[in-house]
Parts: sequence; structure tokens; C-alpha cells
Amino acid sequence: KVTEHIANADGKTLFSLEIIPPKKGDSIESLFGHIDPLMEFKPPFIDVTYHREEFVYKNRGNGLLEKKTIRKRPGTVGICAAIKNRYEVDPVPHIICGGFTKEETENALIDLNFLGIDNVLVLRGDSIAEEKTFKPEPDGNAYAIDLVNQVVSMNNARYLDEELQNAVPTSFCIGVAGYPEKHFEAPNMKSDLKYLKEKIDRGAEYIVTQMFFDNQKYFDFVEQCRAACITVPIIPGLKPITTKGHMTVLPSIFHIDIPDDLYVEIEKCKTNKEVKEVGIAWGIQQSKELMDAGVPVLHYYSMGKSDSVYRIAKELF
Ligand code: FAD
Repeated sequence: KVTEHIANADGKTLFSLEIIPPKKGDSIESLFGHIDPLMEFKPPFIDVTYHREEFVYKNRGNGLLEKKTIRKRPGTVGICAAIKNRYEVDPVPHIICGGFTKEETENALIDLNFLGIDNVLVLRGDSIAEEKTFKPEPDGNAYAIDLVNQVVSMNNARYLDEELQNAVPTSFCIGVAGYPEKHFEAPNMKSDLKYLKEKIDRGAEYIVTQMFFDNQKYFDFVEQCRAACITVPIIPGLKPITTKGHMTVLPSIFHIDIPDDLYVEIEKCKTNKEVKEVGIAWGIQQSKELMDAGVPVLHYYSMGKSDSVYRIAKELF
């Protein structure tokens, strides 16, 4: 379990990463090629994101719209099994509310349990392109907290499927997301922290943060969490900048700020090769400061590319 890895590290900062399933039809080999070099830094766990089905309306030409579902990045459960089989690490599948009924979620969790996977990062998910705001399935979970409740129920051997009432309990260690710069839908930080605390009070055991580029945002967030009596480990999530496009894309998708100093350095770059070097240098400096502050884990959003994360980790682990 993630919490056991942290407890057994005796205060030493651990290295971990998040990967994204390959696009539908791609080979898993490219994913392994990306994880293999990072095994040098002995990650005790690897997160695998989950992506819901999306739908688009296609014009059939006769005035009728056809609803077409697309699954861009399938395979989270299978990838977790493959990671467990290939490496000595614990996969942490993400599970999301959006796009799933509670029954479908229960079945996915049963599959994970069969595979000996003991960790889940529980999330709500975002709205899809066709929807302005997040809409849960009619029989689905609306907020991450509802999904936390569902996993905790299964950990207490309470299943939705009546035929499973005598089944053994699962024993998932539950992580949840936290936002040093506030979740974009929350009216203010106080409200966001209130719901974060509820997720912990219901049974989540650790927090992984949204990416941030200014460590002070993380330090302030930890302080606010502690003041709100949230005492669980708070794992910082870090993303190395690799392209100039990140300067606009990351703030717009993830609702985070790029510090002035970093922006100025990136603007000076003439090529993305130079940008990547700035991103690595920034990542090393951020990681060192966080490590010195005694964070439990440095968790890198690799987003399908390992070289920047490798260069940063090489300086620290
Ligand atoms: P919630 O905790 O449900 O919060 C969502 C919003 O609702 C917040 O503003 C919160 O303040 C508010 N809120 C919470 N509970 C209540 C309540 N009971 N009543 C009223 N308001 C409430 N997305 C994916 O699709 N797949 C992934 O694999 C994935 N991985 C992620 C990993 C990390 C570390 C992070 C930080 C995000 C990830 N996301 C992923 C994105 C995530 O799904 C979105 O950020 C989503 O918008 C919010 O998810 P959440 O779990 O924080 O939601």
C-alpha cells in the first residue's frame, strides 16, 4: 500500500511517477520503453490514469445526428496487471466517477482485487467536450467523495451486488486529489478544503496534488490542510515543462499558474530543445527544495515521456 511504502521509508523521500495508457491501438511496448529507464530510481508505486469514454454527435447527412462513443485511452486495469507482472512495484490505478455507473465501478474494483492490486486513486473526472459542466451517470457517483464511500463499503464487505454479500472484503488503500491552487470549480479555498477533509474523514489515506511550479503554493497548501486538521501525507505532483506550448496549455487545462521567472526563461528559448533544458533545471530545483523540506514522495507526471523525468531524478535519487 502507498501508505505502507511511505511509513517504511523512514522519512526518506521516495520517487514515483504517473503514466497515461497508450492511445487506442498503440503498443504497450512504448510504455514499457518509457518506464524501464525510470526503474533505476526504484519507484515503489506507479500511478496509471483512467480515461472515460467520450461521445460526439456525427451528422449522418440526412439531418439526423448519430451519437458515437470513443474510448481514446483504454486499458488501465490491464496495464496495471502488466506493470505488476513486469516490475517489482505496486500499480495505482486511478478510478473515476464520470462515465461509469456504480455497478460498473464495483466490477472494475473486483477485477483489480482479483489481480492483487491494493491501491486506488479516487477521482471525480472532468466533463467531456460535449458537456459544459461535469455530469455523472444516472446511476453513477457524482463526487470523488461518493466513490470513496463506495470503495470503503467494499473494504467493509458491503457490495452493491446482492449475490456478493458473503464475499471477502477488499482492502484498497485510497488516495485522493488535492489542489494547491484550488480546484477551478470551488468558490474558494475554504470550501475546497472542506470537501477535501470530508474525503479523508470518509477513509482516504493520502493526497496527491495537482501539478504546481511554485513550491510556495505547495507549502501554503500543506499548512492550510494541517490547520484544517488534514493530517495524512500530501504527495507533491510535478510536471517537467518540455514545450513552449505548455505555457498556455497547462494553465488552461489544469488551472494553475506559471511563475514569472519560469515564463521569462522559457520565452527566451529559441527551440523546444532549449525549453526542455529549462524545464529540467526548474524541475531539479523544485524537487531539491521539496526533498529538503522532507516531502514523503516526489511524484512525476511523465505524460508518456521519460527523458526529462529521468534527468531530474538522476540528480536526486
Ligand atoms: P472532487 O473531490 O469531487 O471535487 C470536485 C469539485 O467539487 C471541487 O471543486 C470540490 O471542491 C467540489 N466538491 C467536492 N465534493 C463536493 C460535495 N460533496 N458537494 C459539493 N461540492 C463538492 N481525471 C481523469 O479523468 N482521470 C485521471 O486518471 C485523473 N487523474 C488525476 C490525478 C491527480 C493527482 C489529479 C490532481 C487530478 C486527476 N484527474 C484525473 C483530474 C480530476 O478528475 C479533475 O481535477 C476533476 O475536475 C476533479 O476531481 P476530484 O477528484 O478532485 O473531484
